[in-house]
Formats: sequence, structure tokens, C-alpha cells
Amino acid sequence: MNYRTIEEVSDQVVSCRRCKRLVSYRESLPARASYSLEEYWRRPVAGYGDPNARLIIIGLAPAAHGGNRTGRVFTGDESGRFLVSSLHEAGYSNQPTSESRGDGLVLLDCYITAAVKCAPPQNRPTREEFENCSSYLEAELSLLVRAESVLTLGGQAFSSFLRHVGKNGGRVRGLKFTHGGRYVIPGFPTLYASYHPSPRNTYTGKLTKRMLVTLLQRIRKNKQSG
Ligand code: SF4
Repeated sequence: MNYRTIEEVSDQVVSCRRCKRLVSYRESLPARASYSLEEYWRRPVAGYGDPNARLIIIGLAPAAHGGNRTGRVFTGDESGRFLVSSLHEAGYSNQPTSESRGDGLVLLDCYITAAVKCAPPQNRPTREEFENCSSYLEAELSLLVRAESVLTLGGQAFSSFLRHVGKNGGRVRGLKFTHGGRYVIPGFPTLYASYHPSPRNTYTGKLTKRMLVTLLQRIRKNKQSG
């Protein structure tokens, strides 16, 4: 399908039912006790942000009680809080918090999406689910024509972007995920890699806020390091 705008992609995403396992999971997941008075979103979660952004951030998938609850990726969970407070410190958002779709967050020169648009059990989409959802990521990447940099969060998002590059004629052989890595691939935005800001990484200090902010500041300058 040919999309003319990011809004057209988003409209298609939110009604998608291509992956039976994920549709069943997102729609039947019990609400957490702390959110029992809220109505969960329970649909695919589209990307959002500035359609003229120079930076695209790609995560793995919405969290079961984060994006799948709030309807916006990296919103209402620990990963989102960590990411958005880092974005704010680096000048990529108007506020440091990300709690709900109506919270006033505006991304500045930045667009955030996920490789898989539905929350997967144990945060583990299958290979088939990645493939099913890749057409949406492809569409977003092709429409965000001003993008100069792509930041992938975690190894799975990194691989998803490399599959996009490979499908579109780019050379990806030998590129390995390294936190802080910068990869120049002719014909594509400069690729940067970060550990995913999940509690498993941030609570253990594998990814600190200083590490992510420093990387975002480097991206702003599109620099190798320093
Ligand atoms: S993961 Fe993607 S392809 Fe699968 S149902 Fe959700 S939006 Fe559709």
C-alpha cells in the first residue's frame, strides 16, 4: 500500500489485526490493579512526533501496561519516563514527562515509533510478527524524508532497521550492535545504537541517563563521539 502521509500510516496501523497472537494478547490482557479505573487502549500503537523530524527513534514494541494502556508509545511506563526525560535534557521535547496522550508532550525535531506496533507477550515478538509489521516501519521511514539520524533502542530495533536498509539496497554486512555505535550507510540516515531504556537496563546501571543524554547530544551534532 502506498501512503502519502504519516497520518495515513497511523490510521491504518491502529485498525490492524494482522497478527492473531498479538491481537488476542493486547485485547485480553488484564488491567493492572493500579490502573483498574482506566480504559486500556488495547489497539496497535502508531508512531508520533514531528513529521519533519531530523531524528527518528525506533523502539521494540509498546509495553503491555504502557503504550497498550495509554495509546502512545513510550508513555506511562518506566522506559518512557527514562527516555523522555533524557530527550528533554537533550532538547528533543518540551517537557520531561510522558504519562498520557493528553499530557502536552511535544517532540521537537524528533519522531518516535516501534518496530512492532502491538504489545507482545514477554516483550518478545516472533520473527513473523516483525515481518508482518515491517511494512508500517518501512512506510514511516520513507515518509520522514528530512531524517538525518536514526536511533535504535536495543538490538531488536537495530536489526529491524538493518532489515529495512537491506531491503532497500543498502549494505549491512558486518554491522554489529554496540551501545553508542554510529554507522554511516550511504543513502540512509546515520544510524546510532543505544541499549533499550527498559528497567532491566536502567535499574542495573547498564544504561544511565548520562549515557543516553550524551548520545542524544552527539546525535544532535551528528558526531562520532565526544
Ligand atoms: S504487530 Fe503490526 S502487523 Fe501485527 S497486528 Fe499489530 S500493527 Fe498489525
